[in-house]
Amino acid sequence: MSLAKKQNIWYYLLIIFDISRHKRVRLWRIIYNCMGLPGHRRTSGDKRRRAAHFALTPKTGATCAKCGKVILSHRACVGCGTYKGRQVLNVAKRAHRQVKSAKAKK
Ligand SMILES: [Zn+2]
Repeated sequence: MSLAKKQNIWYYLLIIFDISRHKRVRLWRIIYNCMGLPGHRRTSGDKRRRAAHFALTPKTGATCAKCGKVILSHRACVGCGTYKGRQVLNVAKRAHRQVKSAKAKK
């Protein structure tokens, strides 16, 4: 027996558990089947075609009727706190909270 074979722990495990060559092949096939390797190589064209849809679209903004600030549609204005002419946010309270959190970070 060669030195490389003597030092290999797998060789002793095979002797102890008496795993035949046929069983070993089946075991490796089970292990490799669990690994989920890619079936085919992805070509550069494949990657580029996929990446063609990665681009982000810019958000469309609406203008606030009260203060004229650019806002997201169907959302309350961050500047004045109104939505469809109604006051829904306490802007002064929000500003005070932001100042407080900024101080706490420092
Ligand atoms: Zn506004």
